[in-house]
Amino acid sequence: MPSRKTSFIPLIRPVVGKEELEEVKEVLDSGWLAQGPKVKEFERKLEGFLGAKHVVATSSCTTALSLAIDALDLRRGTAVVVPDFTFPATANVVVRAGGEPLLADVDLDTFGIKPTEVLKARGKDVSAVIPVHPFGHPFEVDEVYENAGKLGAEVIEDAATAFLTRYKGRRVGSRGRAVCFSFHPRKLLTSAEGGCLATDDDEVYEWALAMRSHGQVRRKGKAAFVMNGLNYRMSDVHAAIGIAQLRKVRAIVARRRKQAKIYNELIADSGLDLRPPEEKGWAFHTYQSYVVLLGRAFPLRDRCVGVLRKRFGIETQVGTYSLSAQDAFRSTRKLSGLPGSGRAYGRSLTLPMYHSLSESQQAYVVDSLRRLSRA
Ligand SMILES: *Cc1c(COP(=O)(O)O)cnc(C)c1O
Repeated sequence: MPSRKTSFIPLIRPVVGKEELEEVKEVLDSGWLAQGPKVKEFERKLEGFLGAKHVVATSSCTTALSLAIDALDLRRGTAVVVPDFTFPATANVVVRAGGEPLLADVDLDTFGIKPTEVLKARGKDVSAVIPVHPFGHPFEVDEVYENAGKLGAEVIEDAATAFLTRYKGRRVGSRGRAVCFSFHPRKLLTSAEGGCLATDDDEVYEWALAMRSHGQVRRKGKAAFVMNGLNYRMSDVHAAIGIAQLRKVRAIVARRRKQAKIYNELIADSGLDLRPPEEKGWAFHTYQSYVVLLGRAFPLRDRCVGVLRKRFGIETQVGTYSLSAQDAFRSTRKLSGLPGSGRAYGRSLTLPMYHSLSESQQAYVVDSLRRLSRA
């Protein structure tokens, strides 16, 4: 058995060091700190990594989602289908743009939106669907696009967690009019804060470039303001961190996949009443978060989080949030009952996973869960 008292095990620890420092120093020395050559370099590199036609870097995934709504020119007052089990940003961008989110249930196998839920929005003046790739696993892309198409709705992919995730062998971001990524430190690849919009549509790309920067275009070498855009730009300082991160990101994914396999085996061997995350046959999971579902033998999830922290020195967290359980969404319409989302919110738990987490620390985490279980 691993020793009871090891040092504190955090949920995640970004892989940053001297490579990032050197890149940032270059930017500071250059005297050009705002959006400039480093952002351009980061964007071209991201296109390569994602297999995307165009990438527009932004200050966050949230602003990338807003930019997508602007660039697709969604009509105000229309409805947008979003999963109930997600980070609030997915739906907040809809509200801020004058739309109405419609909350849809998720599938407990993958935590992704149920494709059939989309059809329940028929007749509700739906302009878009914003499905979320949950925790590094893809949602059911073909089915969701097909059903959105039946409603005449656009699809904006919330791919905040899905950098290098694949669906049927295809990289997320290599197709689609609007696919939005996050580079927050909780994600696989970080630029401290940051995000991007990937698109295979030339027109969406041109709009996004203008809307990212005050609705500005250049005409005959001069600035012209042709739309009412805001400032969604990334800085060269942040892009420099991202560029250094790209050199490591494949190793980060490989390591997380290996750690997931170890957790899966430890959990299977322990016979514990909890379900490890599933990787569907059509998916390549990056395990941006390793999220388990606690069975009945475990106390309430929040109690598990508290005891793991206090007694065992292990940081864990809820998978993500049920929007309908938050004050900001109390009066938001639901497309149907939300049993999948309710259960996911009540019983999901994210286990620690980061580059330097050792196999014996993983065994300690699973052993601590065993002590917590009543079975
Ligand atoms: C992290 C996250 C966001 C927000 O990303 P930011 O870059 O912090 O704006 C949005 N949606 C999902 C699903 C996320 O996990």
